[in-house]
Amino acid sequence: MTRNDDSSPVRYVKTGCPLDCWDTCGIVAQIDGNTVTRLQGDKDHPITAGFLCSRGRRLRDRLYSQARIQTPLKRKGDSWQPVSWDQALDEIAYHVTSVLRSDGHHSILHAFDYGSGTILKNLNQRFFYQLGGCTETVGSLCWDAGITAARYDFGQAKSHHPEDLMNARTVVVWGRNVSVTNIHMIPFLRRAAEAGTEIVVVNPIANDFSDHAAEHIAPRPGTDGALALGVLRICRDNGWLNKRFVTEQSVGWDELSPLLDAFSLDFVTAETDVSEQQILNLARRYGTEGPVATLLGPGMQRYPGGGNAIRAIDALAAATGNVGVRGGGVQYAEREVADWIDQESIQGRKHADVREFTRGEQADQILAATPPIKMLFVTRTNPITQVPNSSRLREAYSRIPVKVGVDQFLTETAKMMDYVLPCTHVLEDEDFIFSTMWHPYITYICPAAAIQGDAKPEWWIFGQLANRLGFGDQMNQPIHAWMERALAPCEPYGVTLERLMREGTVRLPVPRIAWENGDFKTSSGRFEFASDTAEREGRSRTAIYIPPSNRGRIVGKAEPTEYPYALLTIHPRFSENSQHKDLPHIPNPPTAIVSTKIARDTGIKDGSYARLWNEQGSLVVRVQISDRGHPDTIVMESGWWHNGSNVNQLTPTRSADLGTQTAQYDCSCAIAPVSRFETVQATTANESQENL
Ligand code: SF4
Repeated sequence: MTRNDDSSPVRYVKTGCPLDCWDTCGIVAQIDGNTVTRLQGDKDHPITAGFLCSRGRRLRDRLYSQARIQTPLKRKGDSWQPVSWDQALDEIAYHVTSVLRSDGHHSILHAFDYGSGTILKNLNQRFFYQLGGCTETVGSLCWDAGITAARYDFGQAKSHHPEDLMNARTVVVWGRNVSVTNIHMIPFLRRAAEAGTEIVVVNPIANDFSDHAAEHIAPRPGTDGALALGVLRICRDNGWLNKRFVTEQSVGWDELSPLLDAFSLDFVTAETDVSEQQILNLARRYGTEGPVATLLGPGMQRYPGGGNAIRAIDALAAATGNVGVRGGGVQYAEREVADWIDQESIQGRKHADVREFTRGEQADQILAATPPIKMLFVTRTNPITQVPNSSRLREAYSRIPVKVGVDQFLTETAKMMDYVLPCTHVLEDEDFIFSTMWHPYITYICPAAAIQGDAKPEWWIFGQLANRLGFGDQMNQPIHAWMERALAPCEPYGVTLERLMREGTVRLPVPRIAWENGDFKTSSGRFEFASDTAEREGRSRTAIYIPPSNRGRIVGKAEPTEYPYALLTIHPRFSENSQHKDLPHIPNPPTAIVSTKIARDTGIKDGSYARLWNEQGSLVVRVQISDRGHPDTIVMESGWWHNGSNVNQLTPTRSADLGTQTAQYDCSCAIAPVSRFETVQATTANESQENL
């Protein structure tokens, strides 16, 4: 795609955004000479249709950032020594061989996550499986309790095609902050609203989108499950259930129904702080004003009862006949897209001997490991900022003798490594993205820029290490061959690599309406209000309510606590998790949003500095007073890099109830004013770390 209508040659290259996001946008890179000068949304992308969020647009800033690592680095005391690729790879291969000989493959930890959602990144895992296995991080900081809930209830998490929102009479956006994390949903919601669909937002904090909704319901954080079960009870008591669905397409209603008796209107209003009228309105919408489409976000499942909260909402939508119908559905994620891609052919895990540490609890598992962890590789993640109780992880990593990071920047995690290997940026890569959690499209990643410095693709780095370790033939195939292997299941449906490269974005054969034929993937083949699978896995058969641990303020239920406020550490607006926190516009210290009530209780003022703390640590923050959320909740964005401003120093490592999900939103804290002197100290400490 080239334009030659002026004197300077300008080219346009279509590619895609690999950030860990619902939308997986199509991008058009404008190239003047050899420089990418602008990124725009690809107008031809059927869903993201021509615009990017600020995180995607800033991919260009990261491409040309002065802070990018240009050559392999080796630690020398407290500083870094640039070294050649040959030296870095020879030395790392030597360490791998030594650890394999002395302690075996479980002594090598591969800590990875999904900071980039492209297929060729799976070759990293292949490398470690070719060693015979390794220890690797599993589970989720993000969404696994909800995925597990959907597996128990439906057999799999599936979504409707975004266009189907036009068929909904009501859309309930429950815990998904679309204006920050799923911005391309907004045009679909807007079109539906213009056609008469009512939009209801359920979220403890107001957001840009809730201002335009017909109704905003703000439950106390972590009580969504009580709200859903209370609403379901009202529907049952008023005869608003869909009898055909309950009797013919589901199992287990008779087990769930008696449990609803505990969720009286009095109990639910006291527990959730939602008014009786709003609870009744929500029941009326689900029970009598369908079809209702329910769009869920992952925040509500980052609690000890988070998976069951999702199960309760699944049950509410199903029992009222809002599942398997046009305009309905409980849309938490779209897992069918990943099923069409043969990841195993890339990873080759089948015969590997893998020891698993969970991402949220890896610190304690490293410290207690037998055989011990002797070598660490970190790829596609910055766990020191992202993992709950980050100070504990810092301690655990510091005890590992040899540490290797693959990254573009010296993140807080990379700074702990002995070797940092610079990897390429998505605008320099060829690959494809299949990581959408929402729509059924995959996108070709086409190289748009010359590689900066001596950075290398991750597949090259691990291929070169494999050459040194004697299994290069298992790693080093042409990348198109790997991509074709991954797409092989789609080929009978006309989805080939050649077509993907030609068209840029291709739809996979995923149905527009989830479960329209009643073909649930559960063991019974029906929707399961009570799940044998859940029981086999040691979980409750039905949805239950597990309250959050921050209950201090509920009158008559507990004594006031030392840490009286809930701390919500939400997804940042300007960064994909921690991926853009290196850019200069990020405020330092970070901002904490508090209510007028908390400000009154504690004497803190708008714009002033405050100390936020709990039993794990403390942060200095700048206060912003806002009454757009629950009055006993403090809201901060996650992702700040620096020790001293990283919210995960405060978040707990406890687990959610389902899957291998962390419950980092179940966090309590206290807040008090601090002096200007303390603030200057904290800010200076952060800045000096930044300059390391
Ligand atoms: S971060 Fe998400 S919304 Fe933003 S450009 Fe990338 S894919 Fe699109």
